[in-house]
Amino acid sequence: MKLDLPWEPPDFTAGSVWLVGSGPGDPGLLSLLALHALGQADDIVHDALVDPSILALARPGAVLHHAGKRGGKPSPQQPDISKTLVELARRNRRVLRLKGGDPLVFGRGGEEALALEAAGIPYRIVPGITAGIGGLAYAGIPLTHRDTNSAVTFITGHASGGVLPDGIDWRAVAQGAPVIVIYMALKHLDGIARQLMAGGRAADEPVVVISKATTPAQRILETTLARAAADAARSGIEPPAVVVVGRTIRLNPGNNPAQ
Ligand code: SAH
Repeated sequence: MKLDLPWEPPDFTAGSVWLVGSGPGDPGLLSLLALHALGQADDIVHDALVDPSILALARPGAVLHHAGKRGGKPSPQQPDISKTLVELARRNRRVLRLKGGDPLVFGRGGEEALALEAAGIPYRIVPGITAGIGGLAYAGIPLTHRDTNSAVTFITGHASGGVLPDGIDWRAVAQGAPVIVIYMALKHLDGIARQLMAGGRAADEPVVVISKATTPAQRILETTLARAAADAARSGIEPPAVVVVGRTIRLNPGNNPAQ
């Protein structure tokens, strides 16, 4: 794919890896560098979170490698993914490592970059729009807003073993910022909500669950901290989802996907 723009993209050289964020789902949120890489790559190693409509933009003939990690299902181990990237680059391929959202936000992109450095493989990092920012925008929620919050906390509700991450000081999280954006939160929503309430957040504090943000299947559930886990279970809302805790405002941009 040749981009017909008054802009010269950098060379995607053979034998290098581009570690690229694909954004939360809507292909319109790809960066020009991501689109350029999709049009150039020989091999694309992608996560389950990368939307099929984005993979459809790959150069015909590009080899797709599924490196998806999905809670509970068998998936390639992280060292295997890094090894695949190194091996493909050593075969002088142009390797696109495509990750959902931003590659360096709860995406283990840092580990892959370290493995490439250790192997002496040249690489480039292309940020993407992370779900905890782009998803909120599509749901009409300003991440910061003068009347509600001038600070925000991003946190993961899920450790690599599938349990609540250790070593999080939930009391400090509860008291740290008026708005908390939680990734990978659905599975442990009950425990998370309890910890936040024990840390001082009100039971009636608003919670918004945004599922499959920016895709045609986007769904939004509005609830409260005390009811969040039960309401999420009852509604059947599915991952991937981000959970927003705190008083926020809701805009109504009629031209974004269903609210
Ligand atoms: N690197 C990604 C995050 C990977 S962790 C990023 O920057 O967005 C996976 C978690 O991201 C999911 O469990 C979910 O919390 C969130 N996520 C990713 N895509 C999403 C989407 N389209 N809608 C809602 N949440 C999403």
